[in-house]
Amino acid sequence: MADATEGGAVTNRPIDEPGSLAAEGVSVVVNGRTLVDGASLHVAPGEVVGLVGPNGAGKSTLLRTFYRAQRPTSGRVLLDGEDIWRMPGKRLARRLAAVLQETSGDFELTVYDVAAMGRTPHKRAFAGDDADDRDIITRSLAELHVDALAHVPFDRLSGGEKQRVLIARALAQRTGTMVLDEPTNHLDLRHQLDALRLVRRLGVTAVVALHDLNLAAAFCDRICVMAEGRVVATGKPEEVLTAPLLSDVYEVEAEVIEHPRTGVPFVSVVPGRERPALEALEAANPAVRGG
Ligand code: ADP
Ligand code: MG
Repeated sequence: MADATEGGAVTNRPIDEPGSLAAEGVSVVVNGRTLVDGASLHVAPGEVVGLVGPNGAGKSTLLRTFYRAQRPTSGRVLLDGEDIWRMPGKRLARRLAAVLQETSGDFELTVYDVAAMGRTPHKRAFAGDDADDRDIITRSLAELHVDALAHVPFDRLSGGEKQRVLIARALAQRTGTMVLDEPTNHLDLRHQLDALRLVRRLGVTAVVALHDLNLAAAFCDRICVMAEGRVVATGKPEEVLTAPLLSDVYEVEAEVIEHPRTGVPFVSVVPGRERPALEALEAANPAVRGG
């Protein structure tokens, strides 16, 4: 397969149109600490944007403002130009699904129950699952290859299996827009590719926090880099994933080449050349400099 993002038909396409999603000057201050500092990001309908940056950069906090788990202290989050903080919760949930970092769930719930939560915004209060709902839930689980686990308690699953169930739940929500916080961090190589390829095939607008820069380069239209609460760069993978930027942001020395098979940037970190380690070495032994 030439293009990592190619794939067959999705049996469970969203019913909602992909939306445009935007953060405009979003800041989040908690207990006097600025976690997100004036972050702006505009995502076009159907575009997939990777959110990268070191631990503690503010990625999850920014994403939390997108699915209304964290109110911005200032700035706005817009879905198709409408402030999400002014939308009725149910309407937002019909249009935007979130895949959060794995949380320890309610151990009473089965895998099926967790995926079925994706149907909630489409139902009247206290209504059960009808045949359509059950079909959508089952197909969503099958799409992530966790249908055989449908009746297993969610809490008994491995981290990777849980992550796939949470993606299935978002799929069952059938929204045109998705926010995903490190959806692949527990997945093996094959399932990482499957999960991101699925997001692409859905045609949804997506913002996805990723640690693996090579996955981000392979699957994202653009990459947004955060550091210390700020957006420091946004652009195409080849524009953003450069050795000087990676040095600045991650304090590592990286080699960035064009992948010989896919043509996208490929990042390889040179061990032992991390900036603080290098500085410490230089301080201890001036002969190290330039080594
Ligand atoms: P990332 O996802 O990029 O690793 P986060 O958005 O999770 O970063 O966190 C950014 C910073 O904000 C971290 O230093 C984290 O400890 C801090 N933080 C996150 N949530 C809270 C909170 N509710 N109260 C105080 N600090 C928080
Ligand atoms: Mg995070």
